[in-house]
Amino acid sequence: MSLRKTFKKFHEEYSQWFATKKPKSILVSALKLGEEAGEVAEAVIAFTGESRNKIKKIFSKGQTPKEAVKEELGDVIVVCLNIATLCDISHEELFESAGRKAKARTQKLAEAVK
Ligand SMILES: [Mg+2]
Repeated sequence: MSLRKTFKKFHEEYSQWFATKKPKSILVSALKLGEEAGEVAEAVIAFTGESRNKIKKIFSKGQTPKEAVKEELGDVIVVCLNIATLCDISHEELFESAGRKAKARTQKLAEAVK
């Protein structure tokens, strides 16, 4: 499935879910983002093999480190979309803004190496 189709399917399903289960507040979602970012960091540490304890923790959940990174990155995306929705920012606006920023950043880097 293409990225466009995958995102469209996710967006449609997510939007239905969000309509029925709104988080209590933006602050709760912001705190949740911090928690999920920490989980991404733990999974990445396990993925790199830097910590046996992190690897053991992930395997005890029946996951590989790569699966854990994928799951936690997905959690971060969902929380970001929640926060955007609660701030009345459409998902399209969010990705357009991120795309513009990434484009500007890569252009600056390309100019710096000339
Ligand atoms: Mg998580």
